[in-house]
Amino acid sequence: MATESPKIKIAIIGGGIAGLSLLFGLLKHPHLEPTLYEAGPEIAGDEGAGIGLAVNALKALELIDPELRKAVLRADSVALSMPVAKMMMADVDHLYYGKELLEVSARDEKNGGVLFQRSKFISELFKLVPSTSCRTNKKLSRVSEHEKGVTLYFEDGTQEEVDALIGGDGIHSNVKKHVLRDVPGNWDSFFCHQYFYVALIPMAKGKEVLGDQYLNTLCQFCWLGKDNFLIHDPCNNGETLQLIAVNSTGETWDSKEWTREKSLSDLKSDLSGAGDLGMGFYELLSSQQQPLTVRSTWEHPPTPTYSSGRSGILGDAAHAMQPWQAAGAGQAIEDAMILSTLFSEVKAASEVPSALKAYTEIRRDRTQYVQRMSQEMGTFLLGDSNLVKDVDAFRKIILGRWDEMWYFDLEGHRKQAIELMKAS
Ligand SMILES: Cc1cc2nc3c(=O)[nH]c(=O)nc-3n(C[C@H](O)[C@H](O)[C@H](O)COP(=O)(O)OP(=O)(O)OC[C@H]3O[C@@H](n4cnc5c(N)ncnc54)[C@H](O)[C@@H]3O)c2cc1C
Repeated sequence: MATESPKIKIAIIGGGIAGLSLLFGLLKHPHLEPTLYEAGPEIAGDEGAGIGLAVNALKALELIDPELRKAVLRADSVALSMPVAKMMMADVDHLYYGKELLEVSARDEKNGGVLFQRSKFISELFKLVPSTSCRTNKKLSRVSEHEKGVTLYFEDGTQEEVDALIGGDGIHSNVKKHVLRDVPGNWDSFFCHQYFYVALIPMAKGKEVLGDQYLNTLCQFCWLGKDNFLIHDPCNNGETLQLIAVNSTGETWDSKEWTREKSLSDLKSDLSGAGDLGMGFYELLSSQQQPLTVRSTWEHPPTPTYSSGRSGILGDAAHAMQPWQAAGAGQAIEDAMILSTLFSEVKAASEVPSALKAYTEIRRDRTQYVQRMSQEMGTFLLGDSNLVKDVDAFRKIILGRWDEMWYFDLEGHRKQAIELMKAS
C-alpha cells in the first residue's frame, strides 16, 4: 500500500489582509498544511480606518476563490459609482479654490471598486477559515533556517518547525529582516514625512457639519490644500463617513512610533488654509476621543528580493508603500494569489525554494512599479498647491496613472509564475 506523503507545513505570520487571503488560498489544497500566527490577542484589523479595493484587487480575490470576493460584499462595502473619485482644490488662496480639478473613472461602470472598513473585511475573511488554522498571541521574535526547514521562535518561549515561512507581518516585519539578512544594504522602512488624522463618523453627522453637497454621491472626494490633503469617502453601506487629513511635516519619527499626540491647536493649524471644509473637518475631528492622535506614513525601499530559501514575505512586509494610489492592500492580495497558485504546485518540501524564487521574480517589478507610482503621486498631491497652474496640465500628470495598476492581466501573470517555477 502506498504511504501518503506528509503535508507541507507552512507558517504564515500576521493576520492582516495579506496573511488571511493567503491562508484561505493555501487551505484549498489538501497537500498543504498552513497555520497563521498573529501577534495580537485577536484577528481584528484596525477599527478606525477604511480602505478601497480597485478592480485588480477584486479580480485577484476572485482568482484565489470567488468566496473571497463575496466577503467584500458582506463587509458592508460601498460600490463606487462613476466617477470613483473627484479631486478638488481646497487651498483658499488658490485661483481654483472650491473647483473640481479632475475625475477618476473606471473603464467599467459596474466595476469601479469598493470602499469598506478594514476591520469588517478582516473579520469576514476570518469567518472563512477554520479557527484551528489561526493562532493568536503568537509574536514571532526570531527565525532560523536549516537544511530540513525553518524554526520559528515566538515571544512566549514556544517554537515551531515548518517547511516554509511566509511573513505577512506588516511594515516592521521580522520575517523581512530574516529574508534580507545576507543582502548588503539598509532595508529598513523609512518615515515619509507625512502624518494623518483619521476618523470614521456617522454619515448623518458628517452631512450636518459638511453639508450634503458632496456627501450624497458614492464617490471618494480628495481635496488639495497648501501642504495638506483632505479625503472624505463613504463606507459601511454609506452609513459611515471616513475623514482623512494628511499633512507633510519636517518632524522626525522613530520607527517604533506609530502615532503621536496632537493638540487642538495643532489640528487647527494643520487644517488652516482649507477654508470651510477645513473648519468642518476641524469640528468633526476635534469631537473625536481625546487626546487626538495622528498616524505616520512609512514605506520600504525597493528590495532586491522577497524570498530566501524557504522564507518569503508578502504585502506590507515586502513592499509597504505610500497610500496615494490606494493600492497597498490590492498588491498584498495579488501576492497572496500568486503565492497560493505556486504552492498548489509544490509537491514536496524540497520544492519550496523554487516556488519562492519564482514568486520574487514575478512580483518584484509589478509591486515596485506600484510603490514608485504611489510615492510620485504623494509628491504631486502633498506638495505645493501652486503646482496646479493649469488644470489641463495637471490632469495630464494625474489621469492614466491607475491604468496599468487596475487593468493588469492577472491571469497571464499567474500563468507566467507557474512557468517560471517549472523552468527553475
Ligand atoms: C491612510 C492609509 C490608507 C490606505 N488606503 C488604502 C486603500 O484605499 N487601498 C489599498 O489597497 N491599500 C490602502 N492602504 C494600504 C493597506 O492598508 C495596506 O497595504 C494593507 O492593509 C497591508 O496589509 P498586510 O496584511 O500586509 O499588513 P498589516 O495589515 O499591517 O498586517 C500585519 C499583521 O501582522 C501582525 N504582526 C506583526 N508583527 C508580527 C509578529 N512578529 N508576529 C506575529 N504577527 C505579527 C500584526 O499584528 C498585523 O495583524 C492604506 C494605508 C494607509 C496608511
